[in-house]
Amino acid sequence: MTENLVCRKRMQSVIRKLFIAVLLLSAVQVNAQQDELFIPRNIQKAYQNNTRTVAGTPGKKFWKNFAEYFIQVKFNPKTLMLEGKQIITYYNNSPDTLKKLVFRIAPDFYKKGNERNRIIEADDVTDGVKFTNCIIDANKVDVNNPLQVKHEGTIMEIKVKGIEPRGGRTTVEMDWNYKLNLNSHERTGVIDIGSYFIAYFFPRITVYDDVDGWDEFPYLGQQETYFDNASFNVHITVPRNFMVWATGDLQNPAEVLHESVLKKWTMAQQSSKPVFLIDSADIRNNTVTQHKKFNTFQFKCTTPDFVFALSNHYLWQARNMVVDSLTMRKALISTAFNPIHKDFFEVNDFTAKTIEVMCFDFPGVAYPYSHLTVVDGRDQMEYPMMINDNPTTTRFDGITLTTHEVFHQIFPFLMATNQTKYAFMDEGWATLGEWYISPLIDTTIVDDYGMDRINSDLGKDWDAPMITNSTELTKSLFINSYPKPALTFLYLWEMLGDSLFKKSLQQYIITWMDKSPTPWDFFYSMNQSCGMDLNWFWKAWYFEQGYPDLGIIGINRLNYSYTVTIKSIGNKPVPIHLTATFADGSKKKYTRTVEIWKNKNITDVIIDTQQAITKLELGDVYDADIDKSNNIFVPKE
Ligand SMILES: [Zn+2]
Repeated sequence: MTENLVCRKRMQSVIRKLFIAVLLLSAVQVNAQQDELFIPRNIQKAYQNNTRTVAGTPGKKFWKNFAEYFIQVKFNPKTLMLEGKQIITYYNNSPDTLKKLVFRIAPDFYKKGNERNRIIEADDVTDGVKFTNCIIDANKVDVNNPLQVKHEGTIMEIKVKGIEPRGGRTTVEMDWNYKLNLNSHERTGVIDIGSYFIAYFFPRITVYDDVDGWDEFPYLGQQETYFDNASFNVHITVPRNFMVWATGDLQNPAEVLHESVLKKWTMAQQSSKPVFLIDSADIRNNTVTQHKKFNTFQFKCTTPDFVFALSNHYLWQARNMVVDSLTMRKALISTAFNPIHKDFFEVNDFTAKTIEVMCFDFPGVAYPYSHLTVVDGRDQMEYPMMINDNPTTTRFDGITLTTHEVFHQIFPFLMATNQTKYAFMDEGWATLGEWYISPLIDTTIVDDYGMDRINSDLGKDWDAPMITNSTELTKSLFINSYPKPALTFLYLWEMLGDSLFKKSLQQYIITWMDKSPTPWDFFYSMNQSCGMDLNWFWKAWYFEQGYPDLGIIGINRLNYSYTVTIKSIGNKPVPIHLTATFADGSKKKYTRTVEIWKNKNITDVIIDTQQAITKLELGDVYDADIDKSNNIFVPKE
């Protein structure tokens, strides 16, 4: 701008002035256009309908549908049969009359003949979920009647009379049963003989939202599911000596826990140090549950999902900690594990430390739930208030796995993002969470999860732009979901500075929690709350193909000053972390945040020194760079 004004002053001819003025005008327009993000048609519709705004906030007409689930489920560890009876009350707050209800029957992932993108063992192929009863608003539904019910893969659509817009409701009663998988543990199944993790288990009405209407994406195994908040009242019946851990608050501890466990449970609510609620003596003496043939554990919560785990030989360790400095609200941090997995004796500490950082540092928002329970399982998978984590052989793996899965409590669960379409909106944050928090637990950790794949894959033809729906990705699903978005968040953090970055992120979380933000809601919310137009950055990283590559292209010495010229050869902006080594062996790092690349691709770093520079090196652990051969420069003296 300044340069153009100087040019203009030199112009003598009025015609030439006008010509330049026209050119300038069009240049401004081109720039404005260049900085606008492409908005897909379904997202544009949400802006037109005023359900969301381009200022990055929910619109005046924002709505969400809601469901209440009353589920009674019985599990038989001998036969692995799960039997459920459920009543769903579904509230239609949308402006549309709903002509059908769409259910996701996730256990049908294991059903014979169904499409899957994960391999399962032949023995785990089932006949799927059997419905023995289905009643909608007092009308019996024959789930085998193709005129009313379309059941394909894990999606079941049932035609209904028409649920009134803005306040209409419907009631669905369903009785169902299926056999739990023994192996092929895809988020759910048998952990060992006597321990089970039961997730994605009940017929669930899928999300109906203002962007796409019904979520009809089948559950194929790989992609996680899109949930919005629902209220759950779940009664879980299991045989004597089985303890149940679940999403939600246990409503009837005195009815199900043995007196000794109940006493310790009450103690743990006051203890900031971990205590064993179930120890090996309780297991040996059968003093875990009440001595009834069956115990029914009752849980209540409002969360995006509900899962549970049970075991007749797991230890249970728990502590209480403050998770909200304003209200001093506390949460119970629990671990349930097999004592043969020695690593799990430390997982409670890792979990508590992660929660502490999340509440009071990054992102700096109160933990939203009353407890978090990490279960020693066979997966690496998060649920609201619950985690299914496999045992690990190294402390490094134990810490990085725990920090990652715990971080998911905010992203996706507090935000209720669409994990199926936008995996980066939760996996990206969980990756950054693990990179940041793991070294706070053990200072020797350098967690570079995914960086090797970044440097090898970025810019190849399968590397689709990050904005691509996760459902459309195969080979680039990993980098687009995990390290690539995490890097962009990290670069922003450095560019905005600690306080502005956290303030903007907290603003986004508070504005959009429970509201299922889209990526555009995130981009516009961050632009707004940090007071900067970051579209150039979003565009380069999320909407364009390409790669990051910085190189040192020249060095000039004038007396006591070196000018190091650095070029951003690739189109993806990465920060400059330039380390200079001097003749006496000392080192100094020179940093420029990604902002340096907003309008240019060449920049100089001036190094004033009385000494000769013996080596220059570009790049840190998290500086993505597909060609490192131009990162090192040894001046010839
Ligand atoms: Zn994850």
